[in-house]
Amino acid sequence: MRDKAFMRNLTGKNGFSLVELTIVIFIISVLVSIAVFSFRNTEVIDLRTCQSNLKILDGAIVQYFLNENSYPGGLDELAPKYIKTMPKCPTDKTKSYEYDSEKHEAICPNGHSYP
Ligand SMILES: [Zn+2]
Repeated sequence: MRDKAFMRNLTGKNGFSLVELTIVIFIISVLVSIAVFSFRNTEVIDLRTCQSNLKILDGAIVQYFLNENSYPGGLDELAPKYIKTMPKCPTDKTKSYEYDSEKHEAICPNGHSYP
């Protein structure tokens, strides 16, 4: 009697069985974990790209100083002589890098920095 009721649940005639719900929850959790992992991976790639951009900009500022005997008034003075094109932070490409005229270094508008 009890086995008959269990089999009826497995065939889906009387709502979802525990096995079916477990499979659905497992599939959803796998999809969520894939989405979270790929999102975090993109964040790390953006950070590394931005750190590389900042190092290139700081190197161009030093080159400017060595050639001109003064620091640039802004990052736009670096292109095209000291840097071919002005890079953008991959996190938000609408904002440009800013220039710290006291420390003479480039600043990311999205808060990235390198050690
Ligand atoms: Zn950045």
